[in-house]
Amino acid sequence: MHEMSIALNILKIATDNAVQENAKCINQVEIAVGRLSGVLGDALKFCFDVAKIDTLAMNAKLDIIDIVGKGQCLSCKSEFDIDSLFSPCPNCDDIGINILQGKELSIKSINVD
Ligand SMILES: [Zn+2]
Repeated sequence: MHEMSIALNILKIATDNAVQENAKCINQVEIAVGRLSGVLGDALKFCFDVAKIDTLAMNAKLDIIDIVGKGQCLSCKSEFDIDSLFSPCPNCDDIGINILQGKELSIKSINVD
């Protein structure tokens, strides 16, 4: 499962970080997930909750910041929200779109004790 490998990656980064800071446990991990990233937030949370058992992140909460997709039309230059990488421009129907945001998948903060 795609989300499981991402959850394991997040866990690895979070636990490495906690070890480095001599932390006893991880309280919270905050990540940003773009709507165009192809990652399902609920599935990712589920995988994180399974993978965190017996790690420093055992009691950690995974918080997801939802980043909406934004694109700019290459023809008419208008900017708009998009739900898929293949949305046409709502203004002129052109399919040439520059993705401005929504593909990100990154860790924003790790809270440890
Ligand atoms: Zn356009």
